[in-house]
Amino acid sequence: MSIVPHDGRRTVYLPLKELDKCAACGKTTSLRLCSSCGERIYCSPECQKGDWPTHKSICGKTDRIDLTTFYPFLALLAESHRLHPDKPLHPALTHAILNSPNPTTLPTAFPDGTSAKLVILGEPVPQEQYASHRWWPTAASDFVRHKLFRRIGHEGYLVPVLTAVCVALLAEMYTTTYIPPSPSSSPSYPTPTPTQRRTRLQYRSSPIADFGIATGPASVTPGDRLAYLNLSDDTFECGADPSTHAWLYFTTVRGEEFALDLGGMFLFNLCFAVPADPYGQGMLAPVRYAPAYFRDRAQARGTPVEIMRVERRYSVLRDEGLGEAVRWSGRKGGVAFEGEDVRRVVEFMERVGGGGGRGKVSDVEMDLTMKWCVNGCVALGITMADRAWVKWPKEPMLAIETDPGEMDEEEEEEGKGVSEEWFKYVRRWNKKYKKGQISKEVLGDMYRAWAKRQARAQGREKEKEKEP
Ligand SMILES: [Zn+2]
Ligand SMILES: [Zn+2]
Repeated sequence: MSIVPHDGRRTVYLPLKELDKCAACGKTTSLRLCSSCGERIYCSPECQKGDWPTHKSICGKTDRIDLTTFYPFLALLAESHRLHPDKPLHPALTHAILNSPNPTTLPTAFPDGTSAKLVILGEPVPQEQYASHRWWPTAASDFVRHKLFRRIGHEGYLVPVLTAVCVALLAEMYTTTYIPPSPSSSPSYPTPTPTQRRTRLQYRSSPIADFGIATGPASVTPGDRLAYLNLSDDTFECGADPSTHAWLYFTTVRGEEFALDLGGMFLFNLCFAVPADPYGQGMLAPVRYAPAYFRDRAQARGTPVEIMRVERRYSVLRDEGLGEAVRWSGRKGGVAFEGEDVRRVVEFMERVGGGGGRGKVSDVEMDLTMKWCVNGCVALGITMADRAWVKWPKEPMLAIETDPGEMDEEEEEEGKGVSEEWFKYVRRWNKKYKKGQISKEVLGDMYRAWAKRQARAQGREKEKEKEP
């Protein structure tokens, strides 16, 4: 096991799964990790000393990166994947918004019982006008307009994005190990570099024992969900469903678990973000911030009710198929995933729950996932080769993008009666438009007229509240 052939083959080295018993005597109490590698446990200094002659050949120095320091890189990686030029844009980004899904607008109730903020789409907008006033004329402000544009950019591709981020971590970090100098070099293999180091993630002093994708429901208010009515092709589409959310989980050898949401909750208006500087280093998308919600100890203390509730975990670190998929990923001439490797990654995604459609992974999703895996491996590979993380802040500077007035808002009303009426109104005018009875301009006017009426009605409600 001490000699690695230089044919580019990579092996995933699994860290300790849990603190169970002393490696020397088997005792199960007062266990401590070997401080050098973090991969062996002992009950006493005596046991550690006694085991050293056998352990020293595999111990070696380990670079340990704290998850708190490291997670912004993963967030930026995910954001870069989403901004990949080959990723098809959501129709709501390329068509004009006719109504006013502003922060203060009430959600709409749909016949199936769900409620969401409805985005009504009209004619296509020329590319240079995306996110502009022409794209959404009635946005409450430029800030509100840009935020909605970026939120919609996070529709779909959640499992592919998370998978690609995990595959990069698996392939680039968890295949590193300490290789001791070989006593005599074998003629068929060159002597491996004795300086090769193991790099691993930890949280505080606890090594990460497992990571992967967690799925389950996220608590999201109707006002933070989105739905799209596209009048240009008369399609209705609900946005991402928070009851089948997905994010990353990390467990430590001491049994703690942390959730890391990479942009999925941003779509639902949970607006924690990390700055791109200094993590991107020109390899990742040129953004200033990437959304990320890391539920660490402090977050868990501050908000005891979990926003995301784990129903299932799909380990990436301990998945045999993915371990095989990364085996040949580090070939000479660059990172590559081919044939069987692709099938293994797709199989994993389908097990987790597919792509946007929550079933089969489409060809587009498959193609993008594999491109993202390569990009992620390259970016993480360079980061690790440079040991860039040494200079990263221990704790990232968090940014929070709240909507105007969000912090002093009262409990959200569902406004069911109004919404149903609104839905009928939309359908009625849309039919007239389809029959050619009214022009697009008139249609737009009708929506705006409704918005005004609604605003007046809300104003009256507020006045009433003020009365004694
Ligand atoms: Zn012992
Ligand atoms: Zn050790």
